[in-house]
Amino acid sequence: MSLIRADLESLPAYVPGRAVPGAIKLASNEVPLPPPPAVLAAIAEAAANANRYPDLAVSALTARLADALGVAAERIAVGCGSVSLCQQLVQITCRETSDEVMFAWRSFEAYPIVTQIGAATARTVPLTSDFRHDLDAMAAAVTPNTRLIFVCSPNNPTGTAVTRAEFERFLAAVGPDVLVALDEAYHEYVTDPDVVDGTTLLDAHPNLVVLRTFSKAYRLAGLRVGYAVGAPDVVLALRKVCSPFSVSSVAQAGAIAALDHAAELLASCAEVVSERTRVRDALLTAGYTVPPTQANFVWLPLGERSTAFATHCLERKVIVRPFAADGVRVTVSTPEENDAFLDAAASFAG
Ligand SMILES: *Cc1c(COP(=O)(O)O)cnc(C)c1O
Repeated sequence: MSLIRADLESLPAYVPGRAVPGAIKLASNEVPLPPPPAVLAAIAEAAANANRYPDLAVSALTARLADALGVAAERIAVGCGSVSLCQQLVQITCRETSDEVMFAWRSFEAYPIVTQIGAATARTVPLTSDFRHDLDAMAAAVTPNTRLIFVCSPNNPTGTAVTRAEFERFLAAVGPDVLVALDEAYHEYVTDPDVVDGTTLLDAHPNLVVLRTFSKAYRLAGLRVGYAVGAPDVVLALRKVCSPFSVSSVAQAGAIAALDHAAELLASCAEVVSERTRVRDALLTAGYTVPPTQANFVWLPLGERSTAFATHCLERKVIVRPFAADGVRVTVSTPEENDAFLDAAASFAG
């Protein structure tokens, strides 16, 4: 007899990007710059009240987000990072082992983990040969057991994004009885005007929920704040299953201050966008396959050579993120750090 449920033996661990002292870390899609000084000041001020519990309802931040997005506050649930909201989405939709959570593969590695923690069944649909979501195949794979579908756009780790036209066709094909979560963690890096912005489709689709985060463009990965925007009944359910006080007072204050400085933070995404073009072009010239990317990273589908490539980069003090036999994801950073990576890529013979 084991004290612990047996199926957790096979639970894949979330693999964080490695950190090696002195090395350039391009493994976690973080922004290499610290938060602006005014955001750090707000964080320090909130930390001074750390003896008090945070606002359970996350009222001030929710109101600020509602204002920024032009939606009612009852449509926003804030969570301890959007990964936590992914887990809450499984909790509010799945109850039986036969309940299914669908997502593309390869996509965000948290999806299979939260599905298994929720004791639901994962159903994956392969990406197309050009590393994009195969939304037609996903819609066709919906069964009466399908409870939740994650669509990641831009997709982690391939960088490819879903267009508005194909996402609307997908929603129409799926129908209103399955919750669809559009994970837009990299929304701020999108420059292609054809890419879907889920927040514009919420009124027409009560079964749509959009996930965003402060971890990437807003430079607060260490504070753990993300949010979901959706129909009030979905949001209410997400709040019900949220671990109480899991969005800390420091996180709430930091996120509000980051919104106060959104213009500055978003402006610095432009440099990443121009660097991603430069990095991708250099890799293409060097002979690599690199799908077009709308995120702050590039994907190198190196297959069985992925681990060797990551080791080669690490020997040159650059940490990238290999995914088993599929490929390698590399965060786009400052010009100097990107150059160090490009030098390593150029000398890879494997
Ligand atoms: C980074 C990332 C997130 C953000 O997770 P947090 O928990 O908010 O830090 C969510 N979804 C995807 C696809 C990501 O890559």
